[in-house]
Formats: sequence, structure tokens, C-alpha cells
Amino acid sequence: MDKISIIVPCYNEEKALPGFYRVTSEAVTDINGTECEFLFVDDGSRDHTPDILESLCRTDSRCRYISFSRNFGKEAAMYAGLQNASGDYCVFMDADLQHPPQLLKEMYHVLKTEGYDCCAGLREDRTGENKLRSLLSRTFYRIIRKTCKLDMGDGKGDFRMMSRAMADSILELKEYNRYMKGIFSFVGFDTKWIPFHNVERTAGETKWSLRSLFRYAVDGILSFSSAPVTMAGTTGALLILAAVLTGVWALIFDGGLTGIPLLICLILLLNGVQMFFISILGQYVSKDYMESKKRPIYIVKKRGGFSGT
Ligand code: UDP
Ligand code: MG
Repeated sequence: MDKISIIVPCYNEEKALPGFYRVTSEAVTDINGTECEFLFVDDGSRDHTPDILESLCRTDSRCRYISFSRNFGKEAAMYAGLQNASGDYCVFMDADLQHPPQLLKEMYHVLKTEGYDCCAGLREDRTGENKLRSLLSRTFYRIIRKTCKLDMGDGKGDFRMMSRAMADSILELKEYNRYMKGIFSFVGFDTKWIPFHNVERTAGETKWSLRSLFRYAVDGILSFSSAPVTMAGTTGALLILAAVLTGVWALIFDGGLTGIPLLICLILLLNGVQMFFISILGQYVSKDYMESKKRPIYIVKKRGGFSGT
């Protein structure tokens, strides 16, 4: 019998948790040939979340929980959940029922019968979400797709069921600044996307302010791309070009490079050269930064012909 680990990061979710547990428990009993475990990670909640988890564990032997000493963030909670999950398949779910439990059955079916390693929910719309937040999120995903060359997009969230092999490969990425959407894409494996409609959270409030979302976005870009450093280099090169053009223009049309044109030319040139060399320095630092993450050089999906396989 296959075991599915349902990993649920929880931060101040006392209002949403009882509903989540009820609806998700019902949904998993519907998946034939499987057993499940609930792995709740209390991310330093300051409400009664730990008490609710304690009582769930007392009444249902499929439930386990870990409580953090303080709020470490959703990414840390997902990592801890995965580290402690014992299932053949692992799935991340938010506690607010924004990830429809009814999809679990289809996700399992896709992994089991269609040869995929991962089946993920693709949120099709942003109904009920703050307009400014939607616009900023969409802009961010446009930027990150251009800069990181990884398959990350609007609506491609954390709600995904994955094979043990994929879960283990995610655990191999031990970097401290974790950006899970990038990590999912980095480890590869075949993913099938199944669309679902956005629903408002059942109870409680979102934990993300615009400020924390912005910080998360910057973290995401810096974790997987050195594009900002390259941008500095390009700007430097453009400034040098502008200095040359100003000089040539002054020589041809102004009868010589003196006075204000000379001053402009020098300012552009000095700033351009400075920026260009800062970007070269940045390239070395960013290479070293990527090295320090000690990411695996490759990830094996399958082996054949070796003794014992
Ligand atoms: N969460 C967490 N730690 C945090 C913030 C959020 O574990 O620091 C959990 C939260 O309890 C929920 C999930 O991450 O289960 C998604 O959070 P939320 O619903 O607030 O995000 P949104 O859906 O608004 O993007
Ligand atoms: Mg939510």
C-alpha cells in the first residue's frame, strides 16, 4: 500500500485548521490503495495552532506535528516537513483550503499511472485577490522567467504531489535562503500541471504583507540568477558608449573636446568604467555565492544496467 505524506505549513492557523483537517481527511479516504500521514509544521504560531495540532495527534494516529521555536517562514516549514515525511509520495498543502483537497486523488492517479514524478496544481486565476498584489505578482513572474531561465510562472505554486525520488532530491538542496518554486524547477523531473480555480482562504488571514512579498521576490531572483550583476555591467558599457559618442560629437560638431562636453564625457566615462568593473567583481562574488550553496551538480532520475538495479 502506498503512503502519502501531506505536509502542511501552519502559521497562526487556529481558525482554518479544523476545517482543513475535516475536508482533507474526507478527500484522502477516497483514494483507494493508499494510506496517508498528516505532517503539520507549526511555524512558530502565536495563537492556538499548537494546541489544535496536539489534540489532532491525540485523536488521529495518522497525524504528527513539529513546532518551531519561532517563525522561520514557510520555506523552512516545507523543508522540515519533507525531512520528516515517510511517505512514498509527498504533497505540500496550505492550511487554508486554498489548495483543493479534491485534487489529491487525481494527483496520485497521475503519479501512479502516467509515469510523472510530480503532479502540481496550476492556479488559473486570482479571483478575490487584491488587485495591486495580483499586478505585482504577475510582473514579478514575468521578470523571474526572463532572468532565471527556470520554469516558474504565475499560478505555479507549492501545491504539488511528488515521488519519493523527487522529494529526496529536494532535500539534497540544503541552502539556507530557500525559494521553493525555484528549487522545484531546479531539480527537474517530469511535472504534470492540473488547473484549479483560486478560492479565498476559508478562515484567518494571509500571512504575506506587500513588504514580505517584495522581500520574497528579491530572494527568489537572487537565489537563482546573477542577472542583476549583468545589468550593472550592461549599464557600465552603455555609459562608456555614451562617453565615446559625446566625445566624437564634440570633436566633429563643436570643434574640439573642451569645456562642458569634456566634463560630461569624463563623468560618463569614469562612471561607466567604475560600474563595468564593479560588475566584473560582482560576477566573481555571485559565482562564489552559488558555489557556497553546494547544490548537486546533477540529479539522477533513473539507472539502468548497473548491478542491483
Ligand atoms: N505559512 C507559514 N509560515 C509563514 C507564512 C505562512 O507556515 O511565515 C503558511 C500558512 O500558515 C499557510 C501557507 O503557509 O498554510 C500559505 O500562507 P498564506 O495562506 O498566508 O499565503 P497566501 O495564500 O496568501 O499566499
Ligand atoms: Mg493562502
